[in-house]
Amino acid sequence: MNKDNKDWKESFKQKFNIEPGVHLGDKGPRNSKKFTFSFWYFFIILLVFLAMNAFMVSRQTNVTSVDYTQFKSLIEDGTIKRVAIQDQQYIGYPFTRAQAASDLQNYSSNGSSSVSTGTYLQSYSTYKVDDASFIPLLDEKGVEYYATAPEKPSILSSILSYVLPFVFIILFWRFLFSKMGGQGGQGVLSFNQNKAKIVAEGDTGVRFADVAGADESKYELEEVVDFLKRPEKYTEIGGKIPKGVLLVGPPGTGKTLLAKAVAGEAGVPFFKMSGADFVEMFVGVGAARVRDLFRQARENSPCIIFIDEIDAIGRSRTSAGIGGNDEREQTLNQLLVEMDGFDSRTGVIIIAATNRPEILDPALLRPGRFDRQVLIDKPDLEGRLAILKIHTKQIKLEDNVDLRKIAQGAAGLAGADLANIANEAALMAVRQQRKVVKQEDFEEAIEKSVAGLERKSRLLNEKERERVAYHETGHALTAFMTKGSEPVSKISIVPRGMGALGYTLQYPTEDRFLLSQSELLGNIDTLLGGRAAEEVIYQEISTGAGNDISRASDLVRRMITEFGMSERYRNITLPTTQSGIAGVSGAREYSEKAQEYIDAETARIVGERYELVKSNLEKNKKALETITKELLEKEVLGGTEFEALAKSEVIDYSADV
Ligand code: ADP
Ligand code: MG
Ligand code: ZN
Repeated sequence: MNKDNKDWKESFKQKFNIEPGVHLGDKGPRNSKKFTFSFWYFFIILLVFLAMNAFMVSRQTNVTSVDYTQFKSLIEDGTIKRVAIQDQQYIGYPFTRAQAASDLQNYSSNGSSSVSTGTYLQSYSTYKVDDASFIPLLDEKGVEYYATAPEKPSILSSILSYVLPFVFIILFWRFLFSKMGGQGGQGVLSFNQNKAKIVAEGDTGVRFADVAGADESKYELEEVVDFLKRPEKYTEIGGKIPKGVLLVGPPGTGKTLLAKAVAGEAGVPFFKMSGADFVEMFVGVGAARVRDLFRQARENSPCIIFIDEIDAIGRSRTSAGIGGNDEREQTLNQLLVEMDGFDSRTGVIIIAATNRPEILDPALLRPGRFDRQVLIDKPDLEGRLAILKIHTKQIKLEDNVDLRKIAQGAAGLAGADLANIANEAALMAVRQQRKVVKQEDFEEAIEKSVAGLERKSRLLNEKERERVAYHETGHALTAFMTKGSEPVSKISIVPRGMGALGYTLQYPTEDRFLLSQSELLGNIDTLLGGRAAEEVIYQEISTGAGNDISRASDLVRRMITEFGMSERYRNITLPTTQSGIAGVSGAREYSEKAQEYIDAETARIVGERYELVKSNLEKNKKALETITKELLEKEVLGGTEFEALAKSEVIDYSADV
């Protein structure tokens, strides 16, 4: 027994060539070449089957379908010697079973048929008719007859009928996925790798010199460039370079541009994907793309992975709202896993950009992930000037164009806006068939981008126009009477864009980062001036000041809650917690009583300022009327024009600030 067992083992080993102690699964180096599910294999097998089937069928009798009367006459004239009676039909053969058997024997022994005429195999079939004289006819003619089941389809064809549909389904499946997956060809599941989308840019063509006004951000990124160029320098010392750099800043400040510049300066491939690219309809595709992206990046290191607008996937997992989003979470988890799974020494650096860092999942910002954050803010005056210089390089400017003045007028605009303005100004010149771009083109372009498109087509009726003119003059005069306020550079009652019926522009002479309390109050006064002027003239207010009012009250509220400028809560902030969910304001972190105080104080301050502004305008009603008349006539008043008028007309005001 034992011996037998041993022998069996031996023979098994010999048969399968297994070394003792080696598990079957470990046998040698596995053949890495995958079995490919080729269409051609199936096609060839199919052809062989069909050929065999056809051959076998041709060996069988050749059945012709005939009418019942014809069938009967064939029996009568003796052609049919045998009838097989089936469920639905009769089949008539021109030979008996005994003849057929002997013929088959002859055929197999010497390869020839004794009854080898062309008609020998000719048989006939006909549909069964309820005819009582049929069987007697067969008896009379001595025809052999018997009942049979209908002839079974050959085993081969029945196998085919099962297998073929599957073959076609599989082929169709493969076809679909190879379409989806771009090149496909790596088995059925290769659709996950979206090769068509992730393409490394060899040279982005952008250098640091193309990015202006972001010197601090550039300085921080220079280190990244240096690392990509000379990784040994850092790894020798044992220093660690951050894996991920998060570029944070408002839209249009050049985050994408800067990321490209890093790749361009370092001369490494640049894999760019937008956060939205990962979020797909199919669950799991986003995660697969992340995996694929990192795999490709590792193969091409050193390189940069750039994930634009990462907030699309990196949104905090808890603030996802009701139900959450499984797909996004999976993608985010995969991203975290991939970031943890590689060493920055491999030379892959991930740069991501967002303009909403506050909604990002905290896990993304932990050390070892996006642990370095680079802020790209809106450019200051010098920055705007530099950006304008870059974007006007290709544009022919009139000699007296003062870019600095344009930059001054574009406070608060981002790089993308400035690039757009430069282009817009050039278009304006082309439209007027000029060969050079003038200062005015830029000014108009700024106005366009600040206040929306000029819409001369929209006409206000005379009364509305007058009201708008008084309103704007009210803003301007109040600004004029407010100490330390920015000078008025333009008043206009040309309606622009949606909603804005007129506007008063104040050019700041320099960038402001600080506002004193009196300057804040001055701003509030100027905002209230429009409505006050309307009340002075019409003894009635209108809806036209809605935006002014909300901005004024917002400023007052912030003075109390943020800047600690109220009497009771002097130097104390009354914060509200940040909320990640859009449209839901944060919870306040102060008492109900404080809230009551804030409301009351806001109302009191706004009321007081409004009364002051109104009384000042009342005292100078004549100035208000003269300037408004001028404005109605010209539609637009320049800064110097306005100032001259105001200086001669304004008689008396109490600047209580
Ligand atoms: P973001 O990604 O921050 O939204 P982009 O990098 O896409 O902004 O900027 C859009 C375009 O605006 C750039 O292609 C470039 O032409 C221009 N731009 C933005 N910021 C700058 C800048 N600092 N210097 C030069 N051009 C800029
Ligand atoms: Mg961008
Ligand atoms: Zn207004």
